[in-house]
Amino acid sequence: MGLNVIAEISHFYGSDERYVLAGGGNTSFKNEENLYIKGSGTALATITPEGFVKMSRKMLADIWTKTYSEDKDKREAEVLKDMMNAKCEGEEGKRPSVETLLHNLFKQQYVLHVHPTMVNGLTCAVSGKSIVEALFDNAIWIEETEPGYVLAAKCRERINEYENRTNKDADLLFLQNHGIFFAADDRDGIDKLVNEVMSAIDRLVTFRPDLTSVDTYDSSIVDDLIKYIAEAYGNDPYVKFTLNKEVEKLCASKEAFKVLMEPMSPDHIVYCKAVPLFIECFDKDSIKAQYAEFINTYGYAPKIAFAKGIGMFAVGNNIKDAATVTSVWLDAVKISVYAQNFGGVRHMAPDMVDFIVNWEVESYRSKVALNNGGNK
Ligand SMILES: [Zn+2]
Repeated sequence: MGLNVIAEISHFYGSDERYVLAGGGNTSFKNEENLYIKGSGTALATITPEGFVKMSRKMLADIWTKTYSEDKDKREAEVLKDMMNAKCEGEEGKRPSVETLLHNLFKQQYVLHVHPTMVNGLTCAVSGKSIVEALFDNAIWIEETEPGYVLAAKCRERINEYENRTNKDADLLFLQNHGIFFAADDRDGIDKLVNEVMSAIDRLVTFRPDLTSVDTYDSSIVDDLIKYIAEAYGNDPYVKFTLNKEVEKLCASKEAFKVLMEPMSPDHIVYCKAVPLFIECFDKDSIKAQYAEFINTYGYAPKIAFAKGIGMFAVGNNIKDAATVTSVWLDAVKISVYAQNFGGVRHMAPDMVDFIVNWEVESYRSKVALNNGGNK
């Protein structure tokens, strides 16, 4: 029964793009013995009860009694191994979410973790912490922390501290430059908490992103740019053009675009890479040269390019991919506007950006290793 309820919660929030983009977020249900966590590679919008990974709560809790390597990569690999061992029999082919340890920290049966745009307007803002503390006395604020074991350990410490101090179970956790956790013992409790948080933030919002599309552009320049960008990027990608009121403001000058030059949350890096390109010269050779220089500097081709006074170009392997890159980048655009209500954007710290950039590679590697191991 609990699994049906968590599947319903997942479908409801997972199909609303105010809460979930590009397969992000995760949910869980727990009883005394087991945690059922969304499996990697499933989407909240369509997850079935079988899509959850059944895990031993005791074995997950045992992770906190162990001492792991001081070396970051080794430590994450060791923790991952223990996490995989905490899966119950019959769950071998599944991979639990990287945020599993966090889910198990909450006492409540249902946990919803998402990265809503408006909430991240606050978590990615200079005054995020003070506003969260003023708005919600039940909220725990976690400063930007590398994901995985270190983040889970910090949350554990803060949740324990909160529960000892208030004698209440923690049910609301904000992660700076990342997202939010909601926890409750039933569906109504989750909905109530989400509504309280969303409406409290909404009441403070004066500046709202205006994504009304703008059609007054020179289509011959746009068509040329699509062609040149595709050639400079290589591998015959799909290039999607977007122009709306916010994009128009941001592409007006390099100065206006500056706010997007550094990432705000891990999602933006995972789907759109850490740094975008601002194009000021539109002829074929200049575009080629700008891409070559960018690749030389960053080691990858940019997924997002803004052409001065023209608009935004998102690159993907195919049309679907380019649409995902576009929606995730528009999320960054919207966050940059919402953050203006809360003291302006607070970008990710450079060492956190590096961590995510490298961590992606690591998690991919471990995934491949995992798949190979599964064949034994
Ligand atoms: Zn997350």
